Amino acid sequence: MQSPLPGILSNLQNAAQAAGRPVPTLLAVSKTQPASAIAGLAAEGQRAFGENYVQEALAKIEALQGLGLEWHLIGHLQSNKAEVVARHFQWVQSVDRNKLVTALARHRPVDLPPLNVLIQVNIDDESSKHGCQPAQVDALAAAIAAEPTLQLRGLMAIPAPWPDPAQRHAAFSRMQALQQALQSRYPQADTLSMGMSSDYAEAIADGATMVRIGTALFGARVRPA
Ligand SMILES: *Cc1c(COP(=O)(O)O)cnc(C)c1O
Repeated sequence: MQSPLPGILSNLQNAAQAAGRPVPTLLAVSKTQPASAIAGLAAEGQRAFGENYVQEALAKIEALQGLGLEWHLIGHLQSNKAEVVARHFQWVQSVDRNKLVTALARHRPVDLPPLNVLIQVNIDDESSKHGCQPAQVDALAAAIAAEPTLQLRGLMAIPAPWPDPAQRHAAFSRMQALQQALQSRYPQADTLSMGMSSDYAEAIADGATMVRIGTALFGARVRPA
């Protein structure tokens, strides 16, 4: 079977060009996929991978160490798992509360580069979703920026699966405004992570600098996640 990676990369380029925006980073979302599938994409040059579940991710990180991959935690993180995450991941995209900031900062080994952190925003105010409220971004950003073992890199969101493109655009635009306000105060916060298999082109038009794509790269997931 032909790899979907080149096609996705050219879609990202085309969407960015159409919007007059820089080409976003592709995060390959590999939850539920075996290490062999990740190694296959890595052999094609894909470097950044996103995982949702800490235990599942640790096994793959260990199996694939030596490939020089960059691991992003994109799922909800309980603070009792902050220590292993701070040791084994390069990015955490799901930081949404102070307790997690403190725990990740305390456990990030000082001989490693700072842990890249995104603040997850619950942009559609869904009770089923994690993430902070937009009004909490400032306080969390200040807490992260004050930690030498953390690097504030920006914002992440999983908008509601609106059937109406205008509502998707509204959620992405609110994120873009939050990101611009954040980066004006913290220039290092250069990342806006939004857009998945079904809506990444729209997210890029609305300012995404990183898209998180699973199904379109790996095919349908074997078990629901
Ligand atoms: C699973 C997941 C994705 C990827 O979703 P697809 O629709 O398979 O592309 C992106 N972001 C998060 C947070 C996810 O959990």
